Amino acid sequence: MRIFARFSGIFTGVNPNQTPGSCPCHTRPDWARITDDEPLTWAVLESGEWEEVRQCPGCGVNWLVTWPDALEGGAILCRPRPEGADRLRLIDRGETLRGYLVSRMEEHMGDLKEDKNRCAIAGCPRRAIRRTQYCLDHLIAQRYGRQLSRVAHDVDDDVL
Ligand SMILES: [Zn+2]
Ligand SMILES: [Zn+2]
Repeated sequence: MRIFARFSGIFTGVNPNQTPGSCPCHTRPDWARITDDEPLTWAVLESGEWEEVRQCPGCGVNWLVTWPDALEGGAILCRPRPEGADRLRLIDRGETLRGYLVSRMEEHMGDLKEDKNRCAIAGCPRRAIRRTQYCLDHLIAQRYGRQLSRVAHDVDDDVL
């Protein structure tokens, strides 16, 4: 544990029965539904309305726990972008939740292949998704809000 001492403070919640690295974090996917409640026992670094930054007691890695469907669905565990972010305001929701959002869209729309056509939103350089007029990012923005989409970073884009 000595080598972790220099990160002072943040390891105070470490479970002494669990040695660093004994957790499955390095094999966890970028997002997953929380099926056992273990991550919900981890130390909370910050909590918001429908999301929390929690720290794995095994390895000290930070994770975003979020309830993306609010009341409708369960919590998911996401590897935050940028990795290691320990505050909600540092987390890029669009990048962090992208894998989850894409898989939700695929549940509704089938596979999300790009078409040859450009996205119908003026000024958007991305290609439209087949069977739609819009690129993946504008579809995400329409369905989930632009703050969860890469279009949040677009300039000249007031359409949505
Ligand atoms: Zn871990
Ligand atoms: Zn677009």
